Amino acid sequence: MSHIIGSKCIGVKDGACILVCPIENCIVEGDESMYINPETCIDCGACIYECPVEAIYDSEEEAIKEEGTNKHVKKNYEFFGFNYENT
Ligand code: SF4
Repeated sequence: MSHIIGSKCIGVKDGACILVCPIENCIVEGDESMYINPETCIDCGACIYECPVEAIYDSEEEAIKEEGTNKHVKKNYEFFGFNYENT
């Protein structure tokens, strides 16, 4: 997967990430947090440094390791209509 927004975004949704992302509609606002479309993200890393709560990880593996759960990674997949098989 691409860069991914973790659970620290929930209830924050600052939106600075959207402003710096060079790809249109790559970062999308959902009900509880922002989400990154894994099909369009080019892994430029620009969003990571803009997030005020350090919610963005550079990989799915890092997100799962840091959060101790794959819950938010799964939500990110499902938000864009993809299946999440890695349970
Ligand atoms: Fe957008 Fe770059 Fe962040 Fe991917 S890594 S979501 S392309 S700013």
